[in-house]
Amino acid sequence: MKLDFLTLYIVILLNSLTVAIIWGAIAYRYRNFAAARVWLGACVLSTIGGSVLALQGNEGSYVPAVVGNGFVIYGFCLFWVGVRVFYGLSGGWKASAAITAGSLFLLVLLFGSLQGRNLVYAGGQSVPLVIAAYYLISQQRRDLGAMIAATAMIVGVLGHVIESGLNIGLMLGNVDQDFYSTIESYALLCVIFSGVVWNFGFTVMSIGRLREELAEMAMTDDLTGVPNRRQFLATLQGEDQRSRRTGRHFSLMLIDIDHFKRFNDTHGHAFGDRILRQFGAIATATVRSSDTVFRLGGDEFAILLPETTARQAEKVAAALVATVREGSGKAEDDERFTISVGVAEWSPDIYVAAVDLTAKADEALYRAKAAGRDDYAISGLKNRKAAMQSHLKLVASNAS
Ligand code: GH3
Ligand code: MG
Repeated sequence: MKLDFLTLYIVILLNSLTVAIIWGAIAYRYRNFAAARVWLGACVLSTIGGSVLALQGNEGSYVPAVVGNGFVIYGFCLFWVGVRVFYGLSGGWKASAAITAGSLFLLVLLFGSLQGRNLVYAGGQSVPLVIAAYYLISQQRRDLGAMIAATAMIVGVLGHVIESGLNIGLMLGNVDQDFYSTIESYALLCVIFSGVVWNFGFTVMSIGRLREELAEMAMTDDLTGVPNRRQFLATLQGEDQRSRRTGRHFSLMLIDIDHFKRFNDTHGHAFGDRILRQFGAIATATVRSSDTVFRLGGDEFAILLPETTARQAEKVAAALVATVREGSGKAEDDERFTISVGVAEWSPDIYVAAVDLTAKADEALYRAKAAGRDDYAISGLKNRKAAMQSHLKLVASNAS
């Protein structure tokens, strides 16, 4: 089989157009998904490149060959830039321009030789594919879509390697022209096919990403941006199971803003919302990175502290109560507010179920409220401060 170049260019053009339509739809539907726009750009440039190349027919005239390949090579580079954008990396545009400019320079230089030209096309397309495949494979998380895309890119590069080998063989007189034409057609078809497959790989990656974003939205409190009650219940259950396995302690803090209704009533609901957001930020900044702050609803929050005893959690509770008391209301237009905290500890010798732990923390929170608010209480224990005061009282009564 021998494919003529015009047929080949038309196949490239139609394939790129098909994939461009898919990326166009995804980019239009999910405006925040920047990688889709870059991949759309890659496909559009390849389509334009394919159209320009098709203009030259089978003859290979100078201007369409250089311009068309410029578009195709820059388009291939954009597939790599899109991968960077997908993984949150910036840049790649200048390197893409450099790869394209370098390829076109070589193309102009070697234009007199058909084999030389073929080597430049193959090299110019392969470089961004190799880099993109490397990026996809080197990601920590193994993603099915990324593996499909990387494999397809490697297959595309292999097609180019075979084609380049044949071109070199032909130049050296080691390869017969008929053999060359037959194998070259297959190699190029393999490159075109791999282009469709890596775009499918990208769409599988995109579906996974959009699904993760949706799952995260379902687990996040949209007012404060901290994890919500659903996430709290899942994390508490996980922590409970982990501690049953390892025997390690963990603590739970329940937090409720004092007299929150008053803020709503005096300054309006929007003001109350601002206090909730302010507290979410203060709490997140106060705890360790291994601790998690959740909003359970209304003005009630929770903090899970893995590998923490009640006495250790007490320090965090005391610091949080003080930070809110002293830190809130500092900014202009902000009101001071205070919180009450209930602390409960899960420990292997007590083995409290997750629901009971919440009830214990809630009971402690109720005690902190009843004792006058702006303070914390610990389930089953006296506060260090209160314990110290009663100790001093005892010492004083013994002395008298
Ligand atoms: P206490 O010190 O006993 O906790 O008194 P409180 O006024 O804070 O009482 P409570 O905790 O029961 O008040 C919760 C209030 O939170 C009731 C409700 O109107 C208000 N609330 C619930 N969700 C929201 C919200 O999303 N935004 C705002 N601004 N207010 C909310
Ligand atoms: Mg309250």
